[in-house]
Amino acid sequence: MVKINSDYTLLRSSYLFSTIAKKVKEYEQANPDANIIRLGIGDVTRPLSPTIIDSLHKAVDEMAAAETFRGYAPDLGYEFLRSAIARNDYELRGCDIAADEIFVSDGAKSDSGNIQEIFSKDCKVAVCDPVYPVYVDTNVMAGRAGTYDETSGKWSNIIYMPCTKETGFLPEIPTETPDLIYLCFPNNPSGSTMTKTRLQEWVDYAVRNKAIIIYDAAYESYISEDDVPHSIYECEGARECAIELRSFSKNAGFTGVRLGFTVIPKTLMVDGVTLHSLWARRHGTKYNGAPYIVQRAGEAVYSEEGKKEIRGLVDYYMNNAAYILNGLKKAGYEVSGGVNAPYIWLKTPKGMTSWEYFDYLLNNASVVGTPGSGFGPSGEGYFRLTAFGDADKTKEAVDRIVNM
Ligand code: PLP
Repeated sequence: MVKINSDYTLLRSSYLFSTIAKKVKEYEQANPDANIIRLGIGDVTRPLSPTIIDSLHKAVDEMAAAETFRGYAPDLGYEFLRSAIARNDYELRGCDIAADEIFVSDGAKSDSGNIQEIFSKDCKVAVCDPVYPVYVDTNVMAGRAGTYDETSGKWSNIIYMPCTKETGFLPEIPTETPDLIYLCFPNNPSGSTMTKTRLQEWVDYAVRNKAIIIYDAAYESYISEDDVPHSIYECEGARECAIELRSFSKNAGFTGVRLGFTVIPKTLMVDGVTLHSLWARRHGTKYNGAPYIVQRAGEAVYSEEGKKEIRGLVDYYMNNAAYILNGLKKAGYEVSGGVNAPYIWLKTPKGMTSWEYFDYLLNNASVVGTPGSGFGPSGEGYFRLTAFGDADKTKEAVDRIVNM
């Protein structure tokens, strides 16, 4: 008789965003005239920029002629895109990453979820707490997380690294030594960032302990401060201990277009095996590549015009971030993030829990945010607002919150 993968049954049933959607729907039904402003899910709202749109049109036309039609893409992605990435994201930042160490994909969510497959089931995983839920859930699916404890909100086999006000919303080296360390900076959900010196300490730690860092840099383009590294490969020794994940979703607005990449240096070895060769095998076996049309759009992101336009998109969102941050600060809220990241992390007032504040905000300001506890136990008592909304609506949301 067929059996299911029972590890899937361990997953927590109510996913954060579906609970939010349910609550918002109920509120909408009870208050049909309410003008709800959504600063909850981290999805972009601005349209694709003209240079990207032109490249998409051009690539579509190429698909209409036999001479320029393209079928399956090369396993690792088209050379034109991988070279543009290697030059712009790495060489120009002084990082030693070659085009053939880059694997083009349909986004950082899939890569961050799939990457654990190339590691042993008994690897010990460490995550920041709060955390982007995908890292935890995919390790649950893989049978690596152990059992869930309702009281603590933690999995027995996962090492949680609390990122609290006391730690500056950054992880500290855990007492138990992990094998796989997920780091995401600039951080979702807290918007915190690590300096290069601090990240170097993690790289040194990983090298010393033969651990691997999975570094999710999906929000790299939001970095505004000089001492914040754009890539983990700015740190010495990272080629020996780090995998980096990147996305075109938040810099260029590709959430609905789908494009990302993973970097695995060829020097990254575990037990005499290169992780590059394992991921190449996995990629080649299970994946047939991001669409040609989309890879051309990705290439356009690195053109001079493309870069300017993308800067404009990021600036638009970061103006929102500044408005939220300053508005809430002035109103007496304890807030952080929003400087190198499109997320603002606020302490819930009057000792409310994250979900109590969610309800309070929805009922009194018709504003939707994300309860911090949905990202892990250390997120309790915090709340995330995103800067991805329309500028006028964002201002209105802040004004409503301040005047509540
Ligand atoms: N990594 C982090 C930390 C994210 O917050 C997100 C999306 O919100 C992703 C990855 C997903 O990126 P993509 O759209 O490329 O799948």
